[in-house]
Amino acid sequence: MLLAARGARVSLLEKDGVVGGRSRRLETPEGYRFDLGPTFFLYPRILEEIFAECGERLADHVRLTRLDPQYRLVFDGGAGPVIDATPDAARMAAEIARIDPRDAAALPRFLADNRRRLALFRPILERGFASAADLLAPQVLRALPHLRPHLSLDAELKRHFRDPRTRLLFSFQSKYLGMSPFRCPGLFSILSFLEYEHGVFHPEGGCNAVAEAMARVAAKQGVAIHLGQPVDRITFQGRRANGVVVNGEKIEADAVVMNADLAHALPKLVPEALRPRWTDRKLQAARYSCSTVMLYLGVEGRFPQLPHHTILLAEQYRQGLEQIGLGKIPDEPSLYVHNPVATDPSMAPPGHSSLYLLMPVGNLRDGDVDWAAARPRLRATLLAQLVALGIPDIEARIRHERMVTPLDWQEDFAVGYGATFNLAHDLGQILHRRPGNRFGDTEHLYLVGGGTHPGSGLPVIYEGARISAGLLADDLGLPGKALPGLPSGGLPSGGLPGGGIAA
Ligand SMILES: Cc1cc2nc3c(=O)[nH]c(=O)nc-3n(C[C@H](O)[C@H](O)[C@H](O)COP(=O)(O)OP(=O)(O)OC[C@H]3O[C@@H](n4cnc5c(N)ncnc54)[C@H](O)[C@@H]3O)c2cc1C
Repeated sequence: MLLAARGARVSLLEKDGVVGGRSRRLETPEGYRFDLGPTFFLYPRILEEIFAECGERLADHVRLTRLDPQYRLVFDGGAGPVIDATPDAARMAAEIARIDPRDAAALPRFLADNRRRLALFRPILERGFASAADLLAPQVLRALPHLRPHLSLDAELKRHFRDPRTRLLFSFQSKYLGMSPFRCPGLFSILSFLEYEHGVFHPEGGCNAVAEAMARVAAKQGVAIHLGQPVDRITFQGRRANGVVVNGEKIEADAVVMNADLAHALPKLVPEALRPRWTDRKLQAARYSCSTVMLYLGVEGRFPQLPHHTILLAEQYRQGLEQIGLGKIPDEPSLYVHNPVATDPSMAPPGHSSLYLLMPVGNLRDGDVDWAAARPRLRATLLAQLVALGIPDIEARIRHERMVTPLDWQEDFAVGYGATFNLAHDLGQILHRRPGNRFGDTEHLYLVGGGTHPGSGLPVIYEGARISAGLLADDLGLPGKALPGLPSGGLPSGGLPGGGIAA
C-alpha cells in the first residue's frame, strides 16, 4: 500500500490462495467464520495513518467496535476471582479492589507512569535500528534510562501492584509476544497500557477483515497481487537483491521485501553467504516465542455466559510458563476463548457460534512432543475447559471442528518452529539486535513482519512495515513523503523506481 502510494510498481507474491497470512479468514461451508490468528485489534492509529497516506480512511473499509468490558480474566483455573477488564478507570479500580484494594488505589499511578513511558518509547518504535550506533540517537538516549533492563515485566509491575493476580491482569499481554511475564522485558508494560488507554477493538468480520481491506486498497493503488505463487528464492547480483524466482521463472525487481516468517524463509530464500549475521546456525540457536494449539469450533447455540474474550489463567500459571519454555504442553494449561458472536453476529449462522480456543504451548525447536499423537488428549483438555467455563454439553453441540498444532503452524502456515509470535523479544533480540528492516547483510532487501524491528503483533508489524517502506523509498529515491526511519545508508540507487516485491 505505502510503496504503491509513493509511486513504486509493486507485485505481491503470496504462496497461499488467500491474503492475510496468520491473519487470514477461516470459513466453513456452513457459515462459521474464524480468525486464524489475531483477534485483539489494538492501537488502530498506526493503520489509520497508513490508510491516510494512501488517501483512504480505515473507517470506510473496516468497522471497528471498541469493547467494554474488553475481556474477562478468570483466575486459578476457575476457582479464583473473575475480573471484567474495562477501560473505565473507576470501574476497573472497583474490579481490582476485589483482588486487593491497595492495588486498586495504585491504578492511576500505573497508567500515568506508562503514559509517560509510551511517549518516550514511541519514537524508538517508529524508527529503524541498523546498528548499536543507533542507540546514540537523542530520542533513544532520552528513553533508555527508563528501560530498566534489569527488570522483567512482572518485576516492573511489582513497583505498582502487590498481588500476583493483579500483576497478571497487566502482564498476561506478554503472551501477545509469545513470552512469559517473568522473562519478558519490563518495557512491555506499555502493552496492557495500550489496551486501557487506546482500546481493544473488534473489526467487523474479524481481524481477517483488516487484511482483506488492505489487499483491496493495495489493489486499488495498483499493486498486482498474485496468490498461490510461492517464491523459491530471492536473486542477487553480488549482495544486491534484484528479483525473485517463482515456479522456476525469474521476476526482476529493483528491490525485494520479504514478509515470509524469518526462521522458515531466510534459510530457503537468501543464500547463507549473504547473511553472515544471520547464518543458519544463528537462526537455529536464536530464542523463539511459544507456539499455540488452536481449536476452531462451529457450535450450535449462543453462549451469553461467555463474553467476547475470556482468558482462563491456570492456578499454576507460572509453572505452566516454565513448561512452555521447555517446549512442552503445560500440565495445567491456560486458555483463551474467542466468542465473537457476542459482538458480531456475522461470525456464525443464526443461533450458532464460532468458538476459537487457544492454548499456549512450547514450540518445535525447544521440545520433542509428538504433536500428531497428542491431538486427542489436547482436544479433551480444551473441551474440558469449555465445560468449566459453563458449556457442559459442548461435545454434543459441535458441528464443525479444526485443530492446529505447532506442527501444523510449521507445515501448513510456514511458521518456523511453529513459533507463532516469531523471534522472542528479549533484550538480546530487540532493537539493533533484531534482523534489520533494511536487511543489513544485503542491499535492496527489506524485511517486514514479526521477525524484524519493532517486532510481533499487528500494530507493531504495521509500524515495522512503515519503517521498511520508508527505507526502501528513500533508497530508491521514490517521490513523496519521507517516512520516519534511518537516513539512507548510501546504497547505490538502482535504475528507475520500479518494483518492490513483497514475498
Ligand atoms: C494464534 C495467534 C493469535 C494471535 N493473536 C494476536 C492478537 O490478538 N493481536 C495481535 O496484534 N497479534 C496477534 N497475533 C500475532 C500476529 O498474528 C502476528 O504477529 C502477525 O499476523 C504475523 O504477521 P507476519 O506478516 O509476520 O507473518 P504472516 O502473517 O505469517 O505472513 C507471512 C506471509 O508470507 C507467506 N509466505 C511464506 N513463505 C512464502 C513464500 N516462499 N512465497 C510467498 N509467500 C510466502 C505466508 O503464506 C504469509 O501469508 C497472533 C498470532 C497467532 C498465530
